[in-house]
Amino acid sequence: MRKLDVLVVGGGPAGLVAGWEAALRAPGAAVAVLERDRAVGAPVRCAEGVGAAGIREFLDPEGAPWVSRRITKVIIVAPDDTEVVVGGKDVGYILDRTRFEPVLAELATRAGAEVLLGTEAAGLRRGTEGWEVTVRSPRGEATWLARVVIGADGVESMVGRWAGLETRVAARDMESAAQYVVANVDCDPDAIYIEFSQQWAPGGYAWVFPKGDGIANVGLGITALHADGRTARQYLDDWLAHRYPDGVVTGFTVGGLITALTVKRTVTDGVLLAGDAAHMINPLSGAGIVNGMKAGRLAGRHAARALREGDTSAANLQAYHDEWMGLLGRDHVWYYKMKDAINGLSDESLDKLARTVNAIPEEKRTLGRIFAHALVRNPSLLPAAARFFAPARREESVDAAD
Ligand SMILES: Cc1cc2nc3c(=O)[nH]c(=O)nc-3n(C[C@H](O)[C@H](O)[C@H](O)COP(=O)(O)OP(=O)(O)OC[C@H]3O[C@@H](n4cnc5c(N)ncnc54)[C@H](O)[C@@H]3O)c2cc1C
Repeated sequence: MRKLDVLVVGGGPAGLVAGWEAALRAPGAAVAVLERDRAVGAPVRCAEGVGAAGIREFLDPEGAPWVSRRITKVIIVAPDDTEVVVGGKDVGYILDRTRFEPVLAELATRAGAEVLLGTEAAGLRRGTEGWEVTVRSPRGEATWLARVVIGADGVESMVGRWAGLETRVAARDMESAAQYVVANVDCDPDAIYIEFSQQWAPGGYAWVFPKGDGIANVGLGITALHADGRTARQYLDDWLAHRYPDGVVTGFTVGGLITALTVKRTVTDGVLLAGDAAHMINPLSGAGIVNGMKAGRLAGRHAARALREGDTSAANLQAYHDEWMGLLGRDHVWYYKMKDAINGLSDESLDKLARTVNAIPEEKRTLGRIFAHALVRNPSLLPAAARFFAPARREESVDAAD
């Protein structure tokens, strides 16, 4: 039986950073990352947008080959096509995830972790010496023993369930997303476009994230409870025909987005969950790449600490959960309420909101101020907003939108 100190399930941003960090913090430990696909970073099921400050915590994006585009503006589009430009020189980047995740895998490998492709975890059982993990690969099936398992297995996570953690999602918090890569798109290549509209993307929003001149990720997410029985792809076809009738579709993907709060328990004995597997995505923006990386870093760090201390119990790993909640988990309560507030606005209210916000001079317009205006239309949220806007750093975190 192969024995590991840390076994990470899932080679997305959360898992690769978890493996990287665990190997860095526990030199000499046996750390492996399992990825069931035959490559990390592909297939891409993502619009690939990240906030500038968040990504810089890990890597320098300036001129990096894994960046498709630098973004300096967010343009929020109202249902009547009124555009609200939110400036800022340093908004973020559109990644090329087919190149980005390989860089993370290389960093994890250099730090001493093993990244195994085409290899999946197929089950988990608590044994006397740790977790017995059923591992399937082209070489066959085997049982491996792990002192700590990090579940970074994404939106369809099984690790949490296998370990007895509650990871079910309410239908209201599950978005179905569809996205095309579209050529011949007439948009500002330095801006991302976001459209909240009950008509085009009920219970979610539509986006245009440019990848190059005239090429963009064009997609939307919907919540089935708000939709009329049509699929996300059918909504997307309608929106594309409205917005870019001459667009040429060159790629297509679908995926799920969990816009819930962080699961109540992200740890149990010898197990930590990170990234989408623990519902750590921003419930308003749906941004989960940097969130997953931040969670992966914390998970790797706490796994290494627990091994050093010789105590991988749930009680000792709880510090990971607490640190995540202090970092972003508690802020997500506010974003979640904002999501509800926006979903409660009719298209007419959204049009009016856009016009009110456009009265604010462009240089003073921030995403935080726009949401503050939305709150005025939904006064029941004001106590939550008052708490959120009190410390100055909250405004910054709204601007970063990670
Ligand atoms: C359409 C769409 C657009 C999005 N756009 C954005 C965006 O613009 N910006 C942003 O920040 N976020 C975006 N997201 C969300 C973002 O993609 C995720 O939040 C992010 O990828 C989460 O990272 P992760 O590492 O937790 O999970 P994932 O990236 O999903 O990685 C999990 C990995 O685990 C592997 N895996 C699963 N089970 C097993 C197993 N049993 N054994 C081995 N491997 C396994 C999977 O193959 C996968 O590679 C979008 C999502 C969708 C669906």
